[in-house]
Order: sequence, then structure tokens, then C-alpha cells
Amino acid sequence: MPKETKYIIFTGGVLSGLGKGIAVASVGKILSPKYKVMPIKCDGYLNVDPGTMNPVEHGEVFVLDDGGEVDMDFGHYERFIGTTCYSEQNLTMGKVFHEIRIKERRGDYLGKTVEYIPHVVDHIKNKYYELAKKTNADIVLIEIGGTVGQIENNLYIEACRQMKKDVGEENIMYIHLSYVPIPSGVNEQKSKPTQQSVDLLRQRGIAPDIIIGRCSEMLTDSIKEKMATFCDVTPDAVITGLDVNSVYKIPLVFEQQGMSKIICQKLDICVKPKLDKWESLVKKLYNGGKTLNIAICGKYTNLEDSYASVVEALYHSAANLDCKVNISFVETTNISNMDQIANLDGVIVPGGFGSRGAEGKIKVIQYCREHNIPFLGICYGLQLAVAEFARNIVGFKDANSTEINPNTKFAVVDILPEQIQVENKGGTMRLGAYPAILKKNSKIYHLYGSEKVSERHRHRYEVNPDYHAVLQKNGLIFSGMSPDGRLVEFIEISNHPYFVGCQGHPELKSSLLKPAPLFFGLVKAAKERRVKS
Ligand code: GLN
Repeated sequence: MPKETKYIIFTGGVLSGLGKGIAVASVGKILSPKYKVMPIKCDGYLNVDPGTMNPVEHGEVFVLDDGGEVDMDFGHYERFIGTTCYSEQNLTMGKVFHEIRIKERRGDYLGKTVEYIPHVVDHIKNKYYELAKKTNADIVLIEIGGTVGQIENNLYIEACRQMKKDVGEENIMYIHLSYVPIPSGVNEQKSKPTQQSVDLLRQRGIAPDIIIGRCSEMLTDSIKEKMATFCDVTPDAVITGLDVNSVYKIPLVFEQQGMSKIICQKLDICVKPKLDKWESLVKKLYNGGKTLNIAICGKYTNLEDSYASVVEALYHSAANLDCKVNISFVETTNISNMDQIANLDGVIVPGGFGSRGAEGKIKVIQYCREHNIPFLGICYGLQLAVAEFARNIVGFKDANSTEINPNTKFAVVDILPEQIQVENKGGTMRLGAYPAILKKNSKIYHLYGSEKVSERHRHRYEVNPDYHAVLQKNGLIFSGMSPDGRLVEFIEISNHPYFVGCQGHPELKSSLLKPAPLFFGLVKAAKERRVKS
């Protein structure tokens, strides 16, 4: 049993969507880099991973270096903690049962009745312990999705209860995130929902060490006292999860209230959080200079969470360039005139699937190219930029991706040969980190500052090699290729302030302290455009 690793378990109560993922990421931020912190997210649903789920329902699918398609909370974890996660860090009940079934068929439980307790719960605990070992983590943060009392989370909660005995009381603590409403008319902070959700947790054998009360204002001393009495914690272990206008403020909000001190006392560790640089960048997020209007043009624009990492990557670059971004979402499905594009300082066509909205995106891309509007095309955005270039510069009428029109005469974007035989939908795209070699002296080479780069991918289609020569001859610059020269990873054009496409998803590796180079380039060009106008 790995006694040396410390575990912090995060549960939630009352409501979902209170920001548990941000709380986990913020605690991780506070404890790193002194300690090697590894987060684990446990989801109750029966999908093996979120890769096959609709981003409108579930938010963006986050992709890791190892190709894992994971919950969008991993975006917060990596951005805050500055760590690279593995796909095993996202547990789902689908994954757990899938593995149990394989073990059962293999005969691992021969002669036994396979039961929730001990077999499933032991399997879950072993996943935690194995991960601690594999990553050599000092501290593992385990987030149990949803709220206590939801039937699908009970096995995770039971596993985390049992862990206390396995790892020793001094190596584990429990943080419960709850909601403190201030009903209008009553105008008073109310502690009952928290008391009741802590009660539910206690019924499952877990007593929290820290309570984070999400509230629109700082919790008063009197409500802290009350919550402390009813929930058996000390008043300083009741921490306000304040409503803020930026999630990046949460590590600061927690630390101002002594979060690290309470954790250190309980786990017998010692840390002095280094948040100076973070704090100064957070200030810049709001006090930066010029406001730039940047649009994300896509089809899932009714839910910001579908493009969460793209939005964050824009904020990261803006803070580092002393400007602000005003992000709008343009639905391209029925876009007819370009008035709303004309006044923008920058445009992003992000990743996407299927044909809806594609023609509109191609029109937007054409407009950006012809009117010198800084443009970044990501994955699908690169593919559509190639179709646009083929149509309007090369003269290939109706050139397209075969994803949109399988019968197009000019299939400038086509399915990857290795994808043709693929039938299963889950986890079968070209996924994860792939390297590219950049063309020296290209725009993006200067942005990355290196010739060999790596971005994360999630796609089945690619620029068709049959058209490489003609596209290049007409002026499309392939500024980055896969090392074997087969796949176009980056494109750009000259005589334009910024017209760049990337087959990978640079937004997935962006952070406040280290903004993604291609977003930095876009925001910089947008800023220059604004200054000129
Ligand atoms: N649909 C495109 C493909 O599969 C683009 C995918 C994406 O944008 N992530 O290649």
C-alpha cells in the first residue's frame, strides 16, 4: 500500500455546477510546484469516456497527450496545476464496468460471485493507488463528479471512505463543496442546505475536514460558526467559494482564507504557495489596455462550454499582451452577410464535425483572407481554409472536404487512409500529441521559437496529399508537416497580417503562465489591427 502519497477527496453537495473542478484545480495550484499533484476525476455515467458525447450536453471533449478523450475539467486541472495528465486519470463507471467485465471473462475472479463490494470498489481504489505510483505523485486529488446522494456516485464515495483505513488517517482528507444561498427577501446567508448535504455524506461514512461554501458574498463569521458546529469542523476550515468574474481568481480567494495552512495541518505537509506571477496576470485579465473584438465562428455557439479551451486560450494571450478580449460567438449555419465580421479584430474557426454551418464558415474565412482580418483555423478550421483557398485562389469550383460532400470533384480534404476501415466510434480518431516540423522562417516558426513542435489532435480527415503540390504552387504555405512529410499540420499565407491554420488543437496546451503560441500570434495581430484603425 503506498502510504507515502497523500490524498484529498473532493465531494459536492446541494447543486451540481458549483465549480468543483475549479476548486480541485485551485487547490492543486496552491500545492504545486512544491508537491507533485495529480488530479483524478470520477464520473458516474456509463459512457467509457466523453469522446462520443455531444459537446452541447457535456461541454468540450478535452484531449490529452496520450490521446485520452476526457472530461473538460482536465482543462482546468492542466491549466492551473501545469501538469500533463494521463487518460487513466478520468474514471467513468463505463470504464470501471468495462474493465470488471474483462477481468471476469478472463477468469480473474474464478469461483467467486463478482460484487460491488469488494470487487468493484477494490478495482476503483486500485486505480487510484496505481495512478499515484505511476505518476510518482506526492498528492492525489480525487474529484467525485456530481453531488453526494446521486446513486451513480455511491461506489466512488464508498471507495474513498475505505481509503482512510488503507492509507492512514494522516494521509487523507475530505473537502466538501456546498452552496450557501441568500434568498431574496430573506437577505441572509443560509446554512441548511450545507448541513443536509454533509449529513448525506456522513451517512456514507465520510466526515469533511474542510467545507467550501459557494456564495455570492464572503461568508460571515456567524454562519461559519454555525456550519462549523453542525458539520464538525473548525470555523477556519469553512472557506468561501466566492462568485468571481474569473475562475483564475479562485486560488487567490482560497489562499487569502488560509487554505494551504489548513491542508498542511491536516496532512502534515508544509507549503508556501507562490502565486505572485499568477496574481499579476489575473489583474491584467481585467485591467489590460485595448479591448479586441474576436469572434469564434461555429455551430455549437449556444453553449460557451463547447469551446471552453479556445475561450481560455484567448484570455491567456490577452493577459500576456496587456489587452482585453471581447469574445463573441457567431453561428455560421445561416450566415448571409458579413457585416458582423467586418468590424472584428480577429476570427477563429474552431474544431468541428459534420456539414452544418460549414459553408458559412468558408464564407467567413474568405472574408478574413480578402480583408486582412487576423484568422486562426483550428483543425476543421484549417481544413475549411484549405477548401476556401482551393475554390477561390486555385479555381477548383466547389472544392470540399469529403466529410461535407463525399462526391466533390476536388476532394482537397479527405479521410486519413488509416481511418477508412475504422468502424467503432469511441476513441478511434487520430488522437493525442503528434509532432510536426516547422518551416524555418515561417510565421509560426517565429511564434513557437522552435523547429520541432507538438500539439494535440482529434480528427479523421486531413489535407489530401494528391493536392499538396497544386495548393503550394498557388501560394498556400505548408508551414509545418508531420516528420514523415505526409500530413499537413500547419498552413499560412503571406501578404496577410495573420492567416494561420493548425491541424492540432493548440488551445489544449495553453495556460495563463504559458499562452499557446498560435493564439498569442492571433491576439497580437488583432491588437496591431486595432491600434492601426
Ligand atoms: N471533422 C474534422 C475531422 O474529423 C475536424 C475535427 C476537429 O475539428 N476536431 O478531421
